[in-house]
Amino acid sequence: MYKKLKQYALNQGFTVEEKEGLVYGRMNGFFFSIHQDPVTMARHTVHLWVKENHMTAVPGISDFLNQCTGKHQYLQSASYSGTKITADFQGLGLQWQKKYVPCLDAFLQEITSYCNANQLVSCCQSCGSEYDLNLYQIDSSEHMLCSSCYSSTADTLRQKTAQQKQKGNGNIVGGIVGALLGSVLGVIVWVLIYQLGYISGIAGLVMIICALKGYELLGGHLSKAGIIISCAISLIMVLVAEQVCVGIEIYNVYKDYYEISFFDAFRSVPSFLEEPDLKTAVIGDIVMGYILMAVGAWGTIRQAYKNVAVSPKARMVTSVTASNYGANE
Ligand SMILES: [Zn+2]
Repeated sequence: MYKKLKQYALNQGFTVEEKEGLVYGRMNGFFFSIHQDPVTMARHTVHLWVKENHMTAVPGISDFLNQCTGKHQYLQSASYSGTKITADFQGLGLQWQKKYVPCLDAFLQEITSYCNANQLVSCCQSCGSEYDLNLYQIDSSEHMLCSSCYSSTADTLRQKTAQQKQKGNGNIVGGIVGALLGSVLGVIVWVLIYQLGYISGIAGLVMIICALKGYELLGGHLSKAGIIISCAISLIMVLVAEQVCVGIEIYNVYKDYYEISFFDAFRSVPSFLEEPDLKTAVIGDIVMGYILMAVGAWGTIRQAYKNVAVSPKARMVTSVTASNYGANE
């Protein structure tokens, strides 16, 4: 966690959970949380959970937040959902460390004074209840919920996890057949492009995407094992595709002189590859195919990995109303 922020939080008596990159506490009677971005210590998200008190009419909270964005240097954006204020801070420029924490502090002071002056009340972000509030961390983001809203959220999460478990690796045999069929499509495209005289490696992109899609269609869903299998099949099928292309070329040249079938030509490819020029060209095609495969597949594989990612985690961080964090009493 960013040192200066930690120091500030400890000085103010806030709670610091260094491992989670989380700070929370109360200012002017209002509970807030600060979450550090897991990637950079120069980015933080601040949350407050408030709603209008029925007794008082509140001038637009959103308008106030807009003013704040203009005023505080490192406050990039701020919004209000009706129960939850979200403010994003980011330290930009070489000198950001100088005034970053004072800027965070100034915003916290200002927003909590505003909440206080307008008699806003702490509330559940889901149903707006003012009682029995706890701070939870769900999928590493903060949520203030009442107990009953949390238990229904937790139920949904549990169901999701159970479904995910049930799916497991899906039907692997079906998946392999799917990936093979998909990669055959890729082979056809590869050969067609080669026949047209273009760099056939472009088809590497088609190959991997078809293999992944094929696995998903026949295997039920794309598991991590499925991703690895699809990639392995595609890598091999590139070699097959290139051999078919060269085989066709050999066949076309020799069919007029000898009585050979395409399969004879296909089998003879390895011996023709001893020819340095041909070898270089073939290796060039294959390398290009692999590079484009990697480029094209990167997004798809990352997305697929995200979809199979670990089941969501949820935990209670602290009770907000019981520990006097609420401003409702
Ligand atoms: Zn609720």
